[in-house]
Amino acid sequence: MNTEAQRCLLCKKPKCALQGCPVHTPVPECMLLYRQGKLDEAGEMLLSNNPLTAITSQVCDWKQFCYGHCVLNVKQVPVRWYEIEQEISTAYLFKYKLQRRSAELAGKRVALVGAGPVGIAAAVWLYEAGADVTLIDANERIGGVLRYGIPAFRLDKKYCDAYETMFAEAGIAFRGGVEVGKDITLAQLQADYDAVLIGAGAEKPATLHIPGEEKAVQALPFLKNPQAFNLGKKVIVIGGGNVAMDACRTAIRQGCETWVYYRKTFENMPANPLEVDQAKADGVQFKLFQAPVEVKEGGVVFRDCENVVPEGGGRVVTRIIDGTDHFVACDTLLTAISEKPDFGMFAGTSAQMNEWGWPATSEAGRVQGLSNVWVAGDFILGPKTVVEAVASAREAVKNIMETL
Ligand SMILES: Cc1cc2nc3c(=O)[nH]c(=O)nc-3n(C[C@H](O)[C@H](O)[C@H](O)COP(=O)(O)OP(=O)(O)OC[C@H]3O[C@@H](n4cnc5c(N)ncnc54)[C@H](O)[C@@H]3O)c2cc1C
Repeated sequence: MNTEAQRCLLCKKPKCALQGCPVHTPVPECMLLYRQGKLDEAGEMLLSNNPLTAITSQVCDWKQFCYGHCVLNVKQVPVRWYEIEQEISTAYLFKYKLQRRSAELAGKRVALVGAGPVGIAAAVWLYEAGADVTLIDANERIGGVLRYGIPAFRLDKKYCDAYETMFAEAGIAFRGGVEVGKDITLAQLQADYDAVLIGAGAEKPATLHIPGEEKAVQALPFLKNPQAFNLGKKVIVIGGGNVAMDACRTAIRQGCETWVYYRKTFENMPANPLEVDQAKADGVQFKLFQAPVEVKEGGVVFRDCENVVPEGGGRVVTRIIDGTDHFVACDTLLTAISEKPDFGMFAGTSAQMNEWGWPATSEAGRVQGLSNVWVAGDFILGPKTVVEAVASAREAVKNIMETL
């Protein structure tokens, strides 16, 4: 990677970091350290800025973020910073030991609900600032979507294991298998801790609102434990996001003939284009302009769609074409159309909810109406990305530190 590092122009105002990266990774500074062979210093800089640097450098859609903003994009090929970041941060993560860097929050107790990217990043920062940290998760192990959603062929679980080891060695308490709102109330946590940060993700599946929908398998439970499902021979996946791509690529690895049916074009798919290409390379087949209208025993009824420009111009809209219903046989229909957060844990609390039923918060994610509760990540942003979850956790943690 040294030749690649030499290509970096070390911009004074690096667009890759300032505009392209939600956590503003200090790219030129780290690049310089890398060139000088100061790998631990570079690792330290990366990990203190973003405790999940070894993971985001693998799962980020870099064309949208750092790579896509590299100044060399204009006339040459951008620098593959994410590969350099991965090299530095992976080596550093596996030898990293948490340490108390300040006593700023000494004696303060903080509960983190959700041990995904938000919980992991916040645990690192708050522990290092001296707080007594407890992580609570409905799942038995640490990682959130990183462990229970993104398949191992894309992200090795050794990365989640590294945080588990790091936290256990530091004495960070982990209460696995505890669902807040069911096994313990939010009010109880508020009473027991000085601050509560909720990073409970977005796991509630959106529905298609079509007859027979209950026959479909939801993609998230499938991805959590693929071996528990017998999908049969032919699988249809509905959706065009990252979850749909992970579901189809997992299904095809189980030996299924796998199709993705999507309402619009490849360009409209919210999934990382690289993942779509990888799904194609795996042998997944795609059928575009198809909307499901009914799930039946042994298959799905689809209706054709088309993109039309409204009269008088404006944004292209996708229209369903009446009279085009056709039955497509399959053994399993996997749905991956979107997810939303579950705000059930706020029931019975004085949290203020906005007109859409979401918690009203300050910019830093402090929940209005509750004295010591913050929210971050997919739980308040809706389904986004790992790096955006870390960025929002950082804002919440800063505000918690100022408040405490
Ligand atoms: C299949 C899939 C693939 C993805 N691929 C990518 C990708 O390639 N790149 C990318 O950047 N992003 C990707 N994403 C998005 C990314 O994983 C999320 O944006 C990120 O994990 C959000 O982090 P989080 O900490 O907010 O929530 P999560 O990772 O969802 O973690 C939330 C945690 O909270 C716990 N929890 C929920 N409710 C409760 C409760 N009541 N009590 C206790 N614990 C609770 C859950 O068990 C979970 O462990 C993907 C998402 C999915 C689902």
